Amino acid sequence: MKKIDLKSLTLKELEDVFLQINEKKFRAKQVFKWIHKQKVDSIDDITVLSKKLRDKLNENHKIGNIKKFKRFDSNIDNTKKYLFILEDSNIIESVMMEYKHGVSLCLSTQVGCKMGCSFCASTKDGLVRNLTPSEILDQVYSIEKDLNVKVSNIVLMGTGEPLDNYDNVLKFLRLIHDKNGLNIGYRHITLSTCGIVPKIYELAEEALPITLSISLHTPFDEDRQEIMPIANRYSIGEIIEACKYYIKKTNRRITFEYTLIDEVNDTNRHAEKLVKLLSGLLCHVNLIPLNPIKENDLVKSKKESINRFKSYLDVRGISATIRREMGSDVNAACGQLRRDYKK
Ligand code: SAH
Repeated sequence: MKKIDLKSLTLKELEDVFLQINEKKFRAKQVFKWIHKQKVDSIDDITVLSKKLRDKLNENHKIGNIKKFKRFDSNIDNTKKYLFILEDSNIIESVMMEYKHGVSLCLSTQVGCKMGCSFCASTKDGLVRNLTPSEILDQVYSIEKDLNVKVSNIVLMGTGEPLDNYDNVLKFLRLIHDKNGLNIGYRHITLSTCGIVPKIYELAEEALPITLSISLHTPFDEDRQEIMPIANRYSIGEIIEACKYYIKKTNRRITFEYTLIDEVNDTNRHAEKLVKLLSGLLCHVNLIPLNPIKENDLVKSKKESINRFKSYLDVRGISATIRREMGSDVNAACGQLRRDYKK
C-alpha cells in the first residue's frame, strides 16, 4: 500500500488519521505544527511523539520530501533558481527573489504543463503529472531551510497551470495560510492562470483574498488563439466576465500579465484595444518583456516599444508596470532549466 503523505493533510484530516489508529485527536495539532512550522523531514523527527507512536504512524504514513538537486545563484541581484528532484525522480524548478519588501518565491504546480502556450518552455514536453499539496509546500520549506530565510510572498507562476491542478493547489493555499503553519497571508499570494474560465468562477466562490493574475498577452481573440491554445476554448470576453465576478466576490484587484513579443502584440493597435478592454475594471497590467526560448524564434519587444506601450496605458488611466528581469545571469527562461537538465 502507498503510504499517506501527512504533509498534504489539513488539520481536520490529520485528526481523522489519529482517530483511525485509535489515538487521541489532540496529537494532530502537535504533528501539524512539527510538519509545517518546524518543517521536519520524517515522522521519526517528531520527537514529541513516543517512539511507539512514531512506529505506528510510520506503518501507513510518511512525510514527503523533495530534494535540492541544483541551485543557481545570480551574482547580480541574489536571485536563486532551484531544481528539485521528487520522490519519483521527476524534476521541478522554483525561484527565490529578494525585494525590499521581503523574499518572494515562484513555485511550480505541475511537472510539465499541457496548455501549449507557444512562447513558454514549460509546456514543450506536455504534462507529466500534478504536484501534490506536499510537493508544492515543500518548495517553500526547502528554500526557507536552505537559505535560512522567511518567505513573505508567493507567486504560482512556475511550471504548470495552477487551475488545471485545482484541488491540490487549493489545499496548498489553505495549508500555507494555516496559523499552525507558515501563516502566509492570502494577500501575499498570487495565482497566475492562462484563463480556465469555469475554474476562475470556482475559485471566486472560495472568496480567498489572493491576487488572481490572468495571462492575457493580447486583447484580440484571433491573436490569442495563435499563441495560446486555451483561447480556442474561452474567449477574452468570457475571461473578463469571470474576472468581474472574481472582483465582486473578493474585492481584489486583478493583475493582467502581458508578455511583450516583438511585432506580435506590442503595436499601438494592441495598446488601444487593451485600454478599451480594461477601462473601468479594477486591475493592473504587468508588462513582461519576453524571455526568448530556443524552441521558437519569437523575439523580445524593443525597449522603445515596451516604454511606448506602458505610456499609452499610463496616460489612459490603466496602471501598468514593467516587470524587472531578475537573475538575468542565471536566466534560463521559465521552464528552461528543467528541460535542459532532463536532457
Ligand atoms: N500557467 C500559468 C502560470 C505559469 S506561467 C499561466 O499561464 O499564467 C507564468 C507567466 O509567465 C505567464 O504569464 C506566462 O504566460 C509567462 N511566460 C511563460 N513563458 C514566458 C516567456 N518565455 N517569457 C515571458 N513570459 C513567459
